[in-house]
Amino acid sequence: MSTNEYAAIVIGGGPGGSTAATFIAKAGHRVLLLEKDSFPRYQIGESLLPATVQGICSLLGVKEEVDAAGFIPKRGGTFVWGKDRTPWSFHFERGGPGDTPRASALQVERNKFDNILLNNARKNGVEVKEGALVKEIIDDGLRFSGVTYKDSRGETITAMSRFIIDASGAKTNFYRHVGERVYSKFFNNLAIFGYFKGSKRLASPHEGDTFSAVFEHGWIWHIPLSDELTSVGVVLDKEYAKQLDNIDAAYEDFIAACPPIKELLEPATRMADEVYGKLRVIKDFSYNNTKFYNKDLILIGDSACFVDPIFSSGVHLSTYAGLLAARSINTTLKGTLDKDRSFLEFEARYRKEYGNFYNFLMAFYDIDQGKDDYFWAARKILNTEEKSNEAFARLITGFSTEGIARAESTEDYFNLRKNFGSVFKDHIINEEKSQGGPPTAAATASSTGIDMGQFMKGFTQEIVDLQLQAKLQQLGLGSNLLPNQSTSVVVSSDFLHWQEGSPNAHSPTKNRKSEYV
Ligand code: FAD
Repeated sequence: MSTNEYAAIVIGGGPGGSTAATFIAKAGHRVLLLEKDSFPRYQIGESLLPATVQGICSLLGVKEEVDAAGFIPKRGGTFVWGKDRTPWSFHFERGGPGDTPRASALQVERNKFDNILLNNARKNGVEVKEGALVKEIIDDGLRFSGVTYKDSRGETITAMSRFIIDASGAKTNFYRHVGERVYSKFFNNLAIFGYFKGSKRLASPHEGDTFSAVFEHGWIWHIPLSDELTSVGVVLDKEYAKQLDNIDAAYEDFIAACPPIKELLEPATRMADEVYGKLRVIKDFSYNNTKFYNKDLILIGDSACFVDPIFSSGVHLSTYAGLLAARSINTTLKGTLDKDRSFLEFEARYRKEYGNFYNFLMAFYDIDQGKDDYFWAARKILNTEEKSNEAFARLITGFSTEGIARAESTEDYFNLRKNFGSVFKDHIINEEKSQGGPPTAAATASSTGIDMGQFMKGFTQEIVDLQLQAKLQQLGLGSNLLPNQSTSVVVSSDFLHWQEGSPNAHSPTKNRKSEYV
């Protein structure tokens, strides 16, 4: 290959881009990663899931460094959520099926976390260029064959490659080469977020939890990032965008209107430094692209999809997609499966995982809320609008979720989820009370026909499998038996490729044993 020719070019050095680039380089391919900023740089998305910390970080070979970085351990979430404002908690080792590996996650300052992943990409042989702004993806009619970028000295450079991964986040529009961005009407929210020092913590053992509390206008997150630092974000209906003349004053007022958060922040003051002293506003963040790849261009992370921050799914979805995309690229380059099959596998698994989170979040938002509260009353209308949001519904109804019958139509899809929230909350609380024991009657047999135990199992399947893959790799055990969904494609023994497998092969996750716990 000439000096500017690569097997893959990755646009963006966030968690999605670093993950994909590292897994492609680990398979022995030449990879260029172009990042417009100089790291460390600020990013929102601080609360991680076990799949990222225990699964992806371990497979990337960066787990020890992440563990040693001093991030706050997170056991799960605590909520003041629903009409009944009594706090309740959800912990990872309890919330999933009884045999879910016991695993905590982390609350991270993203400038530090993303920097670790980007440096790890370098250590694995990825050519990382910071201060390199991609201007254009070259479409030669047959293929997307390369990119032009401006480097840190201001020079315009062209680099060619077999594959291009767009991991450039929510704000670029390279995704238009692949498909259309379709927005959710239901999660059409707006977030204002800032940082405090000296906030109180929840009582032990919940001190590392993400704390989310509803109030009249929406809900507020409170995420401990260090002994001193706390991230606090207000999620509102997007309609509020028109009324926010003085954002600082509005932010303070919203916090004052939410007693559980106000109480925690009583001794705290707003951060004043350049990175954390700023109040930031984001909207239009819940969407899904109609396609995740086109020819040799693949979308991962926020360039492909995201849905509401209530369950901290963004970094999981972007790193999971990074792993899937790398496997599809590695497999195509190896020539052991044809390209179409490899990439259909990427898109099917990624879309299913997004659908799982969308379903899960719908259940969360459906938990009985005060009907007079503006935000929650608006959800009822938006729920109706989402039902007629055919373009978006098509993207999420195509994949069945365990425990809920497959929907034949959009109307069916939403009807099947009636009262989802109350069944869901009962299930979570019962699981928590029963310390992960057998699900209670309320969890398994509901008048809605939703089997919550099965639903949770389906929802957590990929999350659990990622942790299992990491464990198998740690133990030096290969994995050509890991489960696939509807195709007969399985994960290869080096975890870096797909391979042909038998749909009836024994799956270790079906009979998961306590040695993985
Ligand atoms: P990013 O992290 O956005 O990285 C993209 C990178 O591409 C950036 O570094 C950028 O500089 C670079 N780039 C952009 N354009 C170019 C270009 N032209 N050339 C070169 N480089 C370029 N997720 C969670 O997991 N937990 C949370 O608690 C959470 N909270 C959230 C709260 C809110 C309000 C919102 C909106 C999102 C939240 N998320 C959360 C989502 C999370 O922020 C994202 O999903 C995640 O950062 C996506 O990672 P990524 O790698 O796809 O993109």
